[in-house]
Amino acid sequence: MDKFRLYINGAFCDSASGEWFETFNPYTGQPWALVAKAGAEDVDRAVEAAHFQATEGEWSRLSPTARGHLLRRLGDLIARDAHRLAEFEVKDNGKLMAEMLAQMQYLPNYYYYYGGLADKIEGSVIPLDKTGYFNYTRHEPLGVVGIITPWNSPLNLMTWKLAPALAAGNTVVIKPSEFTSVSALEFVKLVEEAGFPPGVVNVVTGFGADVGTPMVEHPKVAKIAFTGSDATGRRIYEAAARGMKAVTMELGGKSPNIVFEDADIESAVFGVISGIFAATGQTCLAGSRLLLQSSIYDEFTKKLVEVASSAKMGNPAEPDTQIGPVATIPQYEKVLSYLDIGCREGAKVLLGGKKASAPECGTGWFVEPTIFGDVDNSMRIAREEIFGPVLSIIRFDTEEDAIRIANDTEFGLAAGVWTRDMRRAMQVPARLQAGTVWVNTYRTMSFMSPFGGYKQSGIGRENGMEMIREYMQVKSVWLNVDAKTANPFIQR
Ligand code: NAD
Repeated sequence: MDKFRLYINGAFCDSASGEWFETFNPYTGQPWALVAKAGAEDVDRAVEAAHFQATEGEWSRLSPTARGHLLRRLGDLIARDAHRLAEFEVKDNGKLMAEMLAQMQYLPNYYYYYGGLADKIEGSVIPLDKTGYFNYTRHEPLGVVGIITPWNSPLNLMTWKLAPALAAGNTVVIKPSEFTSVSALEFVKLVEEAGFPPGVVNVVTGFGADVGTPMVEHPKVAKIAFTGSDATGRRIYEAAARGMKAVTMELGGKSPNIVFEDADIESAVFGVISGIFAATGQTCLAGSRLLLQSSIYDEFTKKLVEVASSAKMGNPAEPDTQIGPVATIPQYEKVLSYLDIGCREGAKVLLGGKKASAPECGTGWFVEPTIFGDVDNSMRIAREEIFGPVLSIIRFDTEEDAIRIANDTEFGLAAGVWTRDMRRAMQVPARLQAGTVWVNTYRTMSFMSPFGGYKQSGIGRENGMEMIREYMQVKSVWLNVDAKTANPFIQR
């Protein structure tokens, strides 16, 4: 089996313990590579290397313009190797090649965008209420940033943090998910080729308790940028608070996709389908609750089931596959358990509802695309994040009902609104408690537009111009421009 080693201070190395763990291909259900299993000692070495570069090394003395050049060079290398990186992602997380390749081809944009921004963060001269002083601000990096990512879009979600963190002048230690560690270790070869000094970007692979916890608790880590489940996010937030560290948290969702009777029905059907079944439902922004106006309930659900049942499942590496496997065994078991929960709660199975057994699915972890009708918003399948290809349909009668049901959730990551009424298209988004609202579209994203959650879906935002400030701190510098400092014991 191939072996993938840690990347610390510009060199690939074994873990201090010399241990390894297996990584699995979700399509075959079989292990395909071994990854170094790191622990606290490895985390410490990586943080020390990163801290040296953040405070004294070559990186700390590079101009922001030079940092920008490095980021743009990295973007070019990602564009060159997009196909290779996508292949590693597909092997490790089972997502469709079509989606992973598109994601990798889009990734360079983040490095070009934040590379361009690196030397455009200006401080200000403060006019002041006092004479005799000159006061200005500097926007400085935080230091070492710990990046912790999940398994669903490993390099994409890492990039949302890495590009602004580096542009701002920080150094990083990356801990990818134990289910999908390989792509970060391949990616970092491009960081080296681009010419970043050793120690600026480190990758430490392993499990949450062995690598994540010591990273969050390390006194020389200034910030944790995390994407993952709300339960882990809460634990990390508590530990980060003890160390007075900054955090950004991109957590889960139970996003409503609201279809009004005046919507363009065909577009809405396609939008709802891509909202829940793309990436086999394994996206934080999945539109997992369909809120459907009663007057179009029967017509809409019929079309929805028709289109969803035509999806081709199978090998994610094949170009015509439309739904791939679930990425991990625990996730597979979790999704199947929710299919039982939905039935027990009295929801009506309109499509799917069990593990998939078609021959194309082989030995992989496949779940049938599932649609539950007649769901009440109090049911667990309407309240808890399933993170799989499972849609819950909830009826509503009026616009007020739709808004109330949409907001009746602890999450607030995203929402969709389908309508041809201009007033509704303007007013409903303003009343939805979600960090992103799409009108007559779903899953549209850009490196230029902020993304993040309201309520339990997170803290802070990623992407967009302002977000580089999430990786910076402000220093206020005072100069006495009056020659003398007065004796403090003599009142003037
Ligand atoms: P997870 O929370 O189990 O793991 C995420 C990462 O945290 C992994 O690298 C894991 O090893 C690490 N980790 C686990 N315990 C830790 C600890 N105690 N200290 C430090 N690190 C620890 O999540 P997952 O199962 O990998 O990913 C799925 C979840 O991620 C879903 O709930 C989904 O909603 C969420 N997600 C959110 C977004 C977003 O942008 N909001 C995007 C993708 C996924």
